[in-house]
Amino acid sequence: YYEQVKQSERLRTTGQLAAAVAHEIRNPLTVVKGFLQLYENDEAYNIDAKRHFRLMIDELNIAEEVLSQFLSIAKPNKNEETETVNVRSALQSVADLLKSYGLYRNNKIELNVEEDIYIEANNMEIKQLLVNILKNAIEASKIGDPIMVTAGTKKNFVEIKVIDFGDGMTEEELKSLGTPFYSLKSKGTGLGMMICFNIAAKYKGTIEFQSAKGKGTTVTIRFP
Ligand code: ADP
Ligand code: MG
Repeated sequence: YYEQVKQSERLRTTGQLAAAVAHEIRNPLTVVKGFLQLYENDEAYNIDAKRHFRLMIDELNIAEEVLSQFLSIAKPNKNEETETVNVRSALQSVADLLKSYGLYRNNKIELNVEEDIYIEANNMEIKQLLVNILKNAIEASKIGDPIMVTAGTKKNFVEIKVIDFGDGMTEEELKSLGTPFYSLKSKGTGLGMMICFNIAAKYKGTIEFQSAKGKGTTVTIRFP
């Protein structure tokens, strides 16, 4: 029993340390990015310099994204309590949140949820999971493609489906999902799926992918 306590203590300290380090790196990044944004709009610099500033800002944005996703893994959730989460409301608010992101390339999220569905979980974590999966669906989609989302109760579980008609994945790519830093995107972090799998596992849920290269992907999320 004693060993077990020590072990979990150690895990917690490592997590806190990692979170602190990530925080300390984020602050200077923000400062550097702020200056680059100023220079980018400064008449004193020529077009070449400005292009380089933009590249630097893009790279810093990726670093920031990696850090914030990493923080959400390393830092144990402050709000550990579970609550009754209304899946329909969670989906609605995530769809609203990502609306403008999708409209950028004219991808509409079509929500089709027949009823209020409830699961016992942490609301923030469920939303985080849904955001990551919906973002991937949008990013994989071609201009104008819809993303379809359904949710319903089956016998012993709640089932959420996110369907896109975009890039799809090969069997090899499917196997790599959830591996830290696995990403085929030039501006990806490769941490989204790992976060999703962690959250699903925490609530004894599963995430299943059906995908065909060039045709699209169906993600099925199930919670008991
Ligand atoms: P990121 O989105 O930062 O690349 P993720 O962990 O969210 O990291 O996803 C890892 C990779 O899995 C993506 O780069 C992409 O290649 C692939 N992927 C995930 N979801 C989809 C999807 N709906 N359609 C096609 N590919 C996907
Ligand atoms: Mg992603």
